[in-house]
Amino acid sequence: MPSDLAALWGPAGAGNRPPRVLGLFAHPDDEVFCVGGTIARCAAAGATTAIVSLTRGEAGQIRDATAATRRTLGAVRAAELARAGDALGVDHVTCLDLGDGRLGKQPLTEVAATARAVIASFRPDVVVTFGPDGATGHPDHAMSCLATAEAIRTTADPPRLLHARFPVQEQLLLDVLVAWLTSHDERFTGTAEFGHALKLIADGCSMLGVAADHFDVEWFPAGSSIIEQGEFGTELFCILSGSADILAEGADGHVHDLATVGPGCFVGEDEIATRCPRKAHVVAREDVTCLVLSPGRADPSAGRDAGGAGTEPAGTERFAVDVHAALDHKVAALAAHRTQYALGADLLPRTLLESLFATEHFTVAQPAHAAPAEESHEHAVL
Ligand SMILES: [Zn+2]
Repeated sequence: MPSDLAALWGPAGAGNRPPRVLGLFAHPDDEVFCVGGTIARCAAAGATTAIVSLTRGEAGQIRDATAATRRTLGAVRAAELARAGDALGVDHVTCLDLGDGRLGKQPLTEVAATARAVIASFRPDVVVTFGPDGATGHPDHAMSCLATAEAIRTTADPPRLLHARFPVQEQLLLDVLVAWLTSHDERFTGTAEFGHALKLIADGCSMLGVAADHFDVEWFPAGSSIIEQGEFGTELFCILSGSADILAEGADGHVHDLATVGPGCFVGEDEIATRCPRKAHVVAREDVTCLVLSPGRADPSAGRDAGGAGTEPAGTERFAVDVHAALDHKVAALAAHRTQYALGADLLPRTLLESLFATEHFTVAQPAHAAPAEESHEHAVL
């Protein structure tokens, strides 16, 4: 095992046999953000790996209407999970059916019994799940954490338990995108698909707190100004629909038509890079919608420390895993979840993917209490 994965195994080390790593989550796609790169690296290094989703994700959104319907979503997402597992090189992928959106309301003992059966059958050395607040506050995520902890508490010879953590990041996607856009000699020309992928990623990042941008979608009726020449602005606009003219006004009042831009194109990046007033007007040719990125979080409570810094006991051990080496696998796994992340694996800039996905953070859960004797026999009896 590479030495930087040693933090995963803890003081006991990985032992003599190939180590076994289990990711146990609430929904298909949770695994990508929580442990995707790390489990891919473990698999590549010879570990035996498994991912289990407690539900089929049938209550989730359908971001690509061609990929599923409300009736088919559960089956489609179970198949997406299998493909994501393949992309990550995971050995065993299981999608259970405890009820998306209802998991958090089920009795802890029942969900814990399922988690205990999963652990008893795979016999992992390490289990990764959500932290107590479920990263996004989703009750199903929180239940997957509680049930896993309860299962481990009542398992003899328990595995090491890790929580995926999403620390508040101060980085701005805006800065990453501006650096990338201004590194091109020619203006970047995107597509509506690119704009959609960027918006989905921006939504996800906003929810997990991995970027400190304020994201908004704004509408500009035909003929209105998206940007006015001479103003100072810190917003970056990605056109999602419609088209706009870039018009430079000379000192004599003459207006030069510099370019027309459409879906997936950006405006405003140059002046953010140079910190100069806007050099041109950008005017909507027809009704235009834009994804607008600006510094500052939309909601100060978003992006809270999902590792639960406020509730963690003092001395809680944390570590991070660099997953650059597995980034392609992780992005391919994300793209496998087509109903949730309608993006091609090579659609978004590499620098953006690296800034968002190349580090995974974990908290070591406090050791479980010793299992009472009668409970420790439970799965032997079953
Ligand atoms: Zn989820």
